Amino acid sequence: MSEQSVSEKLPIHREVVIIGSGPAGLTAAIYAARADLAPLVIEGEPSSTSDQPGGQLMLTTDVENFPGFPEGIMGPQLMADMRAQASRFGAEIVSAKVSRVDFSDQPFRLWIGNSEASEPTHTADAVIVSTGARSVMLGLEAEQRLIGHGLSTCATCDGFFFRDQEIAVVGGGDSALEEAGFLSKFASKVTVVHRRDELRASKIMQKRSIDNPKIEFAWNSMVEDVLGESKVEGLILRDTVTDDTRILPVTGVFIAIGHRPNTDLFTDCLDMDEAGYLVTVPDRSATNVEGVFACGDVQDHTYRQAITAAASGCMAAIDAERWLESRTD
Ligand code: NAP
Repeated sequence: MSEQSVSEKLPIHREVVIIGSGPAGLTAAIYAARADLAPLVIEGEPSSTSDQPGGQLMLTTDVENFPGFPEGIMGPQLMADMRAQASRFGAEIVSAKVSRVDFSDQPFRLWIGNSEASEPTHTADAVIVSTGARSVMLGLEAEQRLIGHGLSTCATCDGFFFRDQEIAVVGGGDSALEEAGFLSKFASKVTVVHRRDELRASKIMQKRSIDNPKIEFAWNSMVEDVLGESKVEGLILRDTVTDDTRILPVTGVFIAIGHRPNTDLFTDCLDMDEAGYLVTVPDRSATNVEGVFACGDVQDHTYRQAITAAASGCMAAIDAERWLESRTD
């Protein structure tokens, strides 16, 4: 918990508490701070590569598609700058994880640390949820070493770096085939590595990929390892039928085996779709609980870009500000 917070009597009350500190949460913090709401951002804490303050951009190297940076910017630097910008306007940032929420009554109650404690550590009039989503990974040690160095989870972000190279996409669903189609515009060859001999993707996506002369398939293939110390040099594939292994020489690999929104905290209180993403009112950030707003990848399984997350963070801060204002009318 931050130094300012521990000296205050618990529970600490804030008009606005923001949970999560990716582009959505920090943009919400910048807007809420500039609206004089003195938001508290509970940013998370480092625990694993897929779950840390700053979100998915902390796992990215060059970001070349965020407007305003003609030469590109490193993902962690972009997040450090957003964080500094939020602090400059008075947002308070706490490096901790929310362990429990209770949105059944006003003020909303939040716990940091012991979730069994009867009293919350924080209360809030409005809460902005921006806990993001994470890419499902294969679970190989090499993924941690090579992410951002030829191994990626976002073709839109990184495809451009693989012009005229041979690369692979892992997965057999719509995401994998969509990524493969996008990547085929840059790469000389894209091999879709799938663990079965039948795709999960929709028929139309399958047809598009099969008709694409740059896309090949490695059927019945599990990725056993990713080769390369400081950059991707190939994949070791194990044939699930024969148990044979072979090396697929590639300079890039995109993992596209699904995404999981970080919504476990909210299962009992916020509406979610069948994949666990928070449901917001169309074109707004309002959730089913009045005063609780959601923004960024935790409620977006379509675009998943830093810029769209930032934009929805702005929307959530404005929605929260107007909602707080409406209560005093
Ligand atoms: P998905 O449909 O769950 O597919 C995940 C794929 O990854 C499956 O083929 C699965 O193999 C494979 N996989 C999972 N874990 C694996 C592992 N540990 N090792 C190797 N392979 C693994 O996920 P998605 O493709 O991200 O799509 C999610 C949802 O979004 C779907 O409803 C999809 O239709 C939708 N979507 C739609 C579009 C579009 O319409 N343009 C684009 C993207 C996503 P198995 O098949 O063997 O289980």
